[in-house]
Amino acid sequence: MIARFLGLQNLPGCIYSVFINMFNEIKASLQKLYEDDQRPWLVGFSGGKDSTMLASLIFDAILCLPPARRTKPVSVVCTDTRVEIPAIAEMVEGTLDLMRKCSQLHNLNVDVNLLKPSVEESFWVNIIGRGYPPPNRTFRWCTQRMKIDPVSVFVRQRLGHWGEAILHLGARREESSTRAQTMAGRKARNGLCRHPDLPRVWVSNPIEFLSSKEVWIYLLQKRNPWGGDNRALFRLYSNAGGGECPIQIDSSTPSCGNSRFGCWTCTVVDRDKASEGLLASGDERMEKLIEFREVLLSYRDPTNGKRDARRMNGDTGPGPLLISARRELLAKLLALQEETHLELISPEELLLIQQMWKAARDPDDGRGVARIIGKLRGLMMSADLNELNQLREMEDEVARELGISAETLRRMVAKVEEYTESHRAQGLPDDLLNILKDDLDASEAQTAKAGEKNA
Ligand code: SF4
Repeated sequence: MIARFLGLQNLPGCIYSVFINMFNEIKASLQKLYEDDQRPWLVGFSGGKDSTMLASLIFDAILCLPPARRTKPVSVVCTDTRVEIPAIAEMVEGTLDLMRKCSQLHNLNVDVNLLKPSVEESFWVNIIGRGYPPPNRTFRWCTQRMKIDPVSVFVRQRLGHWGEAILHLGARREESSTRAQTMAGRKARNGLCRHPDLPRVWVSNPIEFLSSKEVWIYLLQKRNPWGGDNRALFRLYSNAGGGECPIQIDSSTPSCGNSRFGCWTCTVVDRDKASEGLLASGDERMEKLIEFREVLLSYRDPTNGKRDARRMNGDTGPGPLLISARRELLAKLLALQEETHLELISPEELLLIQQMWKAARDPDDGRGVARIIGKLRGLMMSADLNELNQLREMEDEVARELGISAETLRRMVAKVEEYTESHRAQGLPDDLLNILKDDLDASEAQTAKAGEKNA
């Protein structure tokens, strides 16, 4: 079946040896680069076929060196958006584990890193906490926050020790004409290009000129250096419709085409063929996840009454999800979590969402998340109501002195707490200003109403 898929059923053996020579040449050039200088290596790995081939070539190249010469620090870097398709996340974690063991066993000096977006930038904190609409092609806020930023932070930290590094990627020109143009347009020195955003990082694309067929031939004709073969990966591709969302390292990299392995929540694509393919092949968990993606799509549509009529900055236009819509989504997500037994949202994300709801327009009392969880699990929430009332009275008094509403004061305090918990300050003045603008708009609307009544 595999040979038929690749169109290779009638290929003579000598053609195979042409391929083998080509793969050996890439491996030899990697070995040369490895021994040329001390610069450490980073290897982008997404679990897809291209980066699996890349990692396999690199592991092989190092394994073929005598143990005393395996001195270069090499870091495999993989991202997990926290909303990855479960079957793919499981396969990637398994592969990373095998890579770690292989490195330890053979003293390869390779460390393996699974990077996640910070809790503040997770998919659910942005959607259910901040009220961002689920992403689409024109407002694709997710890639930068969930894929590019974690890698950039990691690389910058590592560069602090090293000064310079070489980043290997499994990008290929054949993937798309845009990709071919971008790759052709980058100036190379000794086969390396400067990273567009990280000036001390040099990018290498060892499989740049290979076709997809050649990649599969490589992957299927041999076992991985860390063990296991790639038949499961091949099956996943056949089930998931073909493409992948590659590891993202800069904003110019196109991501998430029409069929790829990506987030199960992805609303950027019209149809999530990867999830549908996995469901068709028997992964029943995908059924409920696909339904939830449809819910997300409907919440993004401004005609469905789930979005504020004002933008975050107060201008008229489709704005963030209303707090009522965020509550509904959280309740649905938690129910889905119970139903599927998958960990879809973490306790840290829930805490931060609660904090954000306190600072939202039409804020809640700081116990909305707990109430939803309690309702779902049939628990009653306990709280010291006396203490809460005293705090409210104090807030009312301070608000009166400042000439703003108590709700505005509470939202401002909550916003400051939210930033303090995330140890950041950038963006706080703007957010506070937006809350004050809301206060001003509300009091102007009240005055106008009173004027109408008196007239
Ligand atoms: S797969 Fe979709 S949701 Fe995930 S980062 Fe890519 S564009 Fe965003």
